[in-house]
Amino acid sequence: MNDNMFTAAGTVKASQETLDGLERWRELNPLQQPTYLDAAELEEALAELRQQPPLIFAGEADVLTQHIAKASRGEAFILAGGDCAETFADATADQISRRVQTILQMAAILTYGGSVPVVKMGRMAGQFAKPRSAETETRDGVTLPSYRGDIVNSHEFTEEARRHDPRRLQEAYNTSASTLNLIRAFTTGGFADLRFVHQWNRGFLSANENYMRYERTAAEIDRALKFMEACGADFQNLRSVEFFAAHEALLLEYERALTRIDSRTGEPYGTSGHFLWIGERTRDIDGAHVDFLSRVKNPVGVKLGPTATTDDALRLAEKLDPHGTPGRLTFITRMGAETVRERLPKLLASVDLPHVTWVCDPMHGNTITSSNGFKTRRFEDVMSEVSGFFDAHAEAGTIPGGLHMELTGDDVTEVMGGGAEIDEEGLRRRYETRVDPRLNHDQSLEMAFQVAEYLTS
Ligand code: PEP
Ligand code: MN
Repeated sequence: MNDNMFTAAGTVKASQETLDGLERWRELNPLQQPTYLDAAELEEALAELRQQPPLIFAGEADVLTQHIAKASRGEAFILAGGDCAETFADATADQISRRVQTILQMAAILTYGGSVPVVKMGRMAGQFAKPRSAETETRDGVTLPSYRGDIVNSHEFTEEARRHDPRRLQEAYNTSASTLNLIRAFTTGGFADLRFVHQWNRGFLSANENYMRYERTAAEIDRALKFMEACGADFQNLRSVEFFAAHEALLLEYERALTRIDSRTGEPYGTSGHFLWIGERTRDIDGAHVDFLSRVKNPVGVKLGPTATTDDALRLAEKLDPHGTPGRLTFITRMGAETVRERLPKLLASVDLPHVTWVCDPMHGNTITSSNGFKTRRFEDVMSEVSGFFDAHAEAGTIPGGLHMELTGDDVTEVMGGGAEIDEEGLRRRYETRVDPRLNHDQSLEMAFQVAEYLTS
């Protein structure tokens, strides 16, 4: 197996115990895994993946850990955003650039309005595997396996499309690689230069309130930059931004095949993305996902829903972050607008772990079905959970470390409300998500403006 990140002579090798540990998840009945019918076909796909270069490097993951540690101390704020489920078809230059632009715009609003450095992360370049509450889906009397994300099967409702196909593992890797390549080009090749802050608004709707508000903020940033330039300030820092790739580490065969040994330390890193998280459905303390992620050195996250107890959180921290390393562990709370004000302050007060970073996912506790059958969310519920999150931290004397959002740069109509007041009928106009509803560009900016106010108040 090609476990080493670099093969140069004299590099540190992993111990046998470390390598054995990386296989331990197999004995723990991993939940939410695909069922591949042809073992030889799967082995062939995994063998190919093991030969592929890493998508990210250990040093980058370590840098991100440092940034997340700053967020735990209130010295930075994390903004993670992107699709619920990326698709191979939507990994186009236009769609990726609009998503990156949207996150850069939100970050500019938060940095300028909230006077805080923003750690930028995309649910991108690897967010292809989805946990599902039902194994199968029935339409017009026909029952087929559920769609589990493009890395497993296709959304199309046919028997062939819904088959769990191991060849998709390689396609997910290839799509992640090309997405990450484009993100790296955008963020280091001049596009993310803060002096282009106006240009990030181009190509979006121009008439609406949030677009105009962004233009005004951009004009203020422009003026501030010109002032600093006139004073002789050095702009090297503004030319490029760091942008990290995050996804749910759900499909353990894929994550294992892309785990590599860091030649500096002999430690394993998941190289499928910088930040890996464990979902609400797979965070069992004795489960396979927690075991596997406890053994890689990336910064990791765990979703905590409304049923999460103090004991759950403490045991997860003990297992995933036994040394209490700042930045290593992020709890991503997703309580729901109704529950957050009641549950979160208690959880924060009883889980007394200052080195852990707390991030708010205001999406997954607020999913509803509209009367005309769309899986949707109300923008006001999303915002209400965000304000409940800030209030809970103020009450508990803890630090609100960031936001984790489902959003897209496109003008979709998947979440109700917001400035454009999308209603149930409006959802029909452009509902494109494969799994969960995403904020559109306009709603994303609106959220950033409101959060900037929470950050300064
Ligand atoms: C998700 O982030 O898309 C997701 C499935 O979230 P959760 O695990 O919190 O339900
Ligand atoms: Mn989702």
